[in-house]
Parts: sequence; C-alpha cells; structure tokens
Amino acid sequence: MGVTVVRNADWAIAWDEAAKSHVYRRGIDVAFDGNTLTHVGSGYAGPADRVIDGRQRMVMPGLVDIHSHPGHEPAYRGIREEHGVPKMHMTGLFERSQAYGAADDATRSASAEVACCELLRSGVTSVVDIGPAWDGWADLMAKSGLRAFLAPGFASARWKLENDFELQYEWDENGGRKRFEAALKFIDGLAKHPSGRLSGVVSPMQIDTCSAELLRDGLAAANDRKLPFTVHIAQGVTEVQEMLRRHGMTPIQWAAGIGILGPTTILGHAIFIDRHSWIRESTDKDLGLIGGSGCTVAHCPTPFARYGHLLESFGGYLRAGVNMGMGTDTTPHNMLEEMRQASSLARIAARDIHSVSIADFLHAATVGGARALLRDDLGRLAAGGKADLVIVDLECVDMQPARDPLRSLVFHAADRAVRDVYVDGRQVVSEGRVLTLDQADAAGRLAEAQARMMAAVPQRDFRGRSADEITPLSLRLG
Ligand SMILES: [Zn+2]
Repeated sequence: MGVTVVRNADWAIAWDEAAKSHVYRRGIDVAFDGNTLTHVGSGYAGPADRVIDGRQRMVMPGLVDIHSHPGHEPAYRGIREEHGVPKMHMTGLFERSQAYGAADDATRSASAEVACCELLRSGVTSVVDIGPAWDGWADLMAKSGLRAFLAPGFASARWKLENDFELQYEWDENGGRKRFEAALKFIDGLAKHPSGRLSGVVSPMQIDTCSAELLRDGLAAANDRKLPFTVHIAQGVTEVQEMLRRHGMTPIQWAAGIGILGPTTILGHAIFIDRHSWIRESTDKDLGLIGGSGCTVAHCPTPFARYGHLLESFGGYLRAGVNMGMGTDTTPHNMLEEMRQASSLARIAARDIHSVSIADFLHAATVGGARALLRDDLGRLAAGGKADLVIVDLECVDMQPARDPLRSLVFHAADRAVRDVYVDGRQVVSEGRVLTLDQADAAGRLAEAQARMMAAVPQRDFRGRSADEITPLSLRLG
C-alpha cells in the first residue's frame, strides 16, 4: 500500500493527547504508511508513494458508530418512521418486530449493503452491527471495507403480543444458552477472518429478555476475550414497568445489582432512567450508577425522537461522568445528521444552549466510541493510530462559508461534503461514491425483500392486519 501523504491540509481535526481532546490545526500534513498514521503535523519530510493535495480540504478522524442494526433497519424505510403504539408509551418496537420480523438472509444482505453505504458516505469508519447472525454476514462487512464489530444477538426470551397493551415474554432458557454458545463461536471465528478488520461484541439483546445468569455469563465471556459487552436497556417505558414489576427496581438498578455495569459495558440507549420525566420513580440514582461504573451509553436519538422520546439530557450524562458514544440505530445511517439531531435534542432536554457543544458530539462520535470498543488507536488523528480518516471538501457549496468547518459539516452539509474515506489505509469512498459496494443494486433487492416482508404481515400480526393497516401511507391515495 505504501505511504500516502495529505499535503497542506487547510484544516485538520487532530488529537491533542495532553488535553485529551480534538483540536483544529491549519496547514499541516497527514501521512500514513499502510494502515497506520505516521505523521500529523507540519513539514512531513519522509517518503511518499502517493500525495493528495490538502488545499480546500479538511482531514478528520473516521467516525465510530457503536450501535446499529444494518441487517434489518433499512427494510423498514417508509414503514417505521411514523409507526408507534400509544398504549405502549408510543414505541412501535414490539408490534413491529412481531408483525414485520423474520427477515431471510437475502433481506439481511440487501439491507446491510444499503446501510454500509450510508455509513461510509457519512464518514463512519467503525461500526457495531447488532443482530442475529446470518450466512454471509462477516464476508459482506469485510467487503464493505468498514472496520466492523459484529454483535450476534442472543436472549432467553422473546417478546410476544396478543393485544396492543400487554407485552408478554416467551421464556426458553436452554434455547438462549444455545444461541449464546453459537454467538461465541461466531465471535471467535471473526479474529481469524483474513480482512483483519473484524472483531466481536458479546450482545445479549435486551435487559428484559435475558436471565441474570445469561447476562453475567455474557459479560464474563466478553472479559475473557477482552471484548466489549452490550445490551439494550432503559429503551422503553414498558420495559421499565416490567422490571419494576419483576424486581421492584429499575432496569439500571437491577443491572448494577447483578454486576453487569462496568467499563467494558455499552448500554444501548439508557434513556428511561429513574428520574426521567416519563418514569418519575422515587429513586434518583440511575445516572450515578451508570457514571460511577464507567459504562458507555450508546446514544442514537433519531428513532426515539420519532416516538416523542428524549434522553434527559446528554450534557447531564456527561457531567455525571458517563462515557457517551453515538450510534445510528435506524436508517438513514447518517452519523453527521445524527450528531446534528442529538445536539438540538440535548439543548431542548436541558433548556440550555450551553449544556452541550458540537465538540462534545464529535468527541462522542469518535474517541467516546473508541473507548467503548477498548480501542485507543481509533477515532483520532494521531501518529500510531489506525489510518481511518475522512477528507471533507471545503469547496462544497453547502460548506460555504467554511469559517468553522466542523459546524459547516454537522449543521449544514453533512454527507454532501464527505469526499474521500479511508479505512485501515485503504480508500473506500472517492468523491462521495462508495468503491466497495453497490447501493443502487442493493436498494433494488431491498425493495423486493420489503414487499415479501409486508406480504407476510397478516400471518404474523396478532389481529391479522395487513401491513397497510398497521402502517398506512403518509398521504391518502387519491
Ligand atoms: Zn438497537
């Protein structure tokens, strides 16, 4: 691969190790040899096999997405944006996963290919992909060129609905144990994948669908392998009510009690804590438990905002010592737009413009995520780190005037200004086009897969409704 130098970058977002923060640098060179950054600073004088003109460009670290479901979320485009169940505190998760579930491998493959293209075009270079394992998963993620942390899900129970107000659980501890063993086998195989860019995350799916034993054993298996551990928790009011009924405490308090909160744990969402305005429990200790344990929260505001749900608040979590990371739970997998959305919602939740800054969200979407993945060689432009970087086009009209290019990028241009992306030293996006995958072809296959999924809805829905009855079109067909 040789040495590549971005020469005279007008702007760069470089890592200041002493201050532990990103800083702007002007007019510097960024060099990488193979998959490793070798120089971030002025006056690079070493050898160069390839020189990129950095004028009218900003070089920044690739973004780290620590929570996503590429294998099915794009299949819900046009279906889930306005789907929710008021008697389940607005979430559509349970109804949708029952009625629209059971994707086949062809659906997962098309869906994941679309998602990977969205991720790459918005500057993501590392992604945590959570879902059931499917044939071809590792190979597709390797082909995408992304640095992929695959999280094959397992659980002791399944959600079940027979009406629109009561969530039921079908427990199968032995089945969950078998899926756990299969997940570990899959994860252990990833380290041997020839791409060298795949690894695993141990992922019991939800706090309410897993037994304490399965959760504890999952964390122990992750620790044995020096891998991260993740679980969905405090993602819905219904879940909190169920845990209060079962254990007399919130999901966060129960998780702390069984010993699964710690510096290698990533909490998916952690929105509905005891003090949340929709919960109003008598205690006020969940945030302290999360922050005190060193956990990461994977913050993905878009799907929740669509239900009317809000994390209260991002700035408050930071000040409680929580390591915040960012994810794109649903489609579009546009991390830059997710950061924009997150910054607005955090200010609404706090009723304070200075509660957060866009620098906080850049930190979360880079080094916050890297810390959660136990990888200090990702999410920063610093010599010795991995060559995962994004070149932003300052000449893009949507960036102009580019007085503060990070603000121009996040608040205005987003993916439209993402020109080139490198992962592990290899170029995977050129002039905004993904080089490794074919989004248009995948989108065609995804439309066919969505039609198959919708046709099966009446057999799966508890009232036998059609997909169009559960999720009508946004406008009446005239
Ligand atoms: Zn999720």
